Amino acid sequence: IVNIQGMNKYFGDHHVLKDIDLTVDAGEVVVIIGASGSGKSTLIRCVNGLEEYQQGALEVDGQALAVNGGHQQALNIIRQEVGMVFQQFNLFPHLTVLENITLAPMKVKGIAAQQAQETAHRLLERVGIGNQAQKYPTQLSGGQQQRVAIARSLAMEPRLMLFDEPTSALDPEMIGEVLDVMRELASEGMTMMVVTHEMGFAREVAHRVVYVHEGCIVEEGKPEDVFDRPQNERTQAFLSRVL
Ligand code: ATP
Ligand code: MG
Repeated sequence: IVNIQGMNKYFGDHHVLKDIDLTVDAGEVVVIIGASGSGKSTLIRCVNGLEEYQQGALEVDGQALAVNGGHQQALNIIRQEVGMVFQQFNLFPHLTVLENITLAPMKVKGIAAQQAQETAHRLLERVGIGNQAQKYPTQLSGGQQQRVAIARSLAMEPRLMLFDEPTSALDPEMIGEVLDVMRELASEGMTMMVVTHEMGFAREVAHRVVYVHEGCIVEEGKPEDVFDRPQNERTQAFLSRVL
């Protein structure tokens, strides 16, 4: 569903992604790990067209996203079919939980209000906060807000979900409830690309772990191989710091 070949990205003359080759199959969970500043966020932001790249090729769900921005039509399709959850939950503060979730399906997909609301209630149940629909984001805990953000993405029926450090802004006691929702999504077969520092989650849920160092993928493989038998010395050094 994602096919990245020879991708290079620059911010000015700063070479941030270097010859990235990466494919993600439907139903696969790929966890991206690496040090701060290594390019993890930039990589997944390219996948839904939030960032442009300068060399190589990128295809998402059959849509080619060309270098330097690509075509608006492909971008529109990709943004409908790819959900993204950020470290900061990015909920609309002036809308209720329910309105946050129904907005895009109604505006972008033209779904009727009642049907959008039914779907929203079902998704809120699924992420474990069925009783919070009428609250505003500031009335919820961080873990609850992040679960609303996940429900909001799911309301668009994405074919791929991108997560960029979804638990990094949370108090420790709330990390588990968000990881539980992600674990369940994965078990239901959702295709996911996840940037995280939660190595336990990566080991348990990922089909494949990708280690990024200074803009390069220097190692990828099954979690047990990458974590227990890292081949690259950069990976070994990184893991010895974080595990
Ligand atoms: P972290 O773990 O801290 O989130 P990361 O691996 O996600 O780091 P990126 O945010 O992708 O790293 O950043 C990669 C590099 O690109 C960094 O050197 C960063 O300073 C630079 N960078 C990121 N965004 C921009 C931008 N909008 N303009 C210029 N440079 C940027
Ligand atoms: Mg980042």
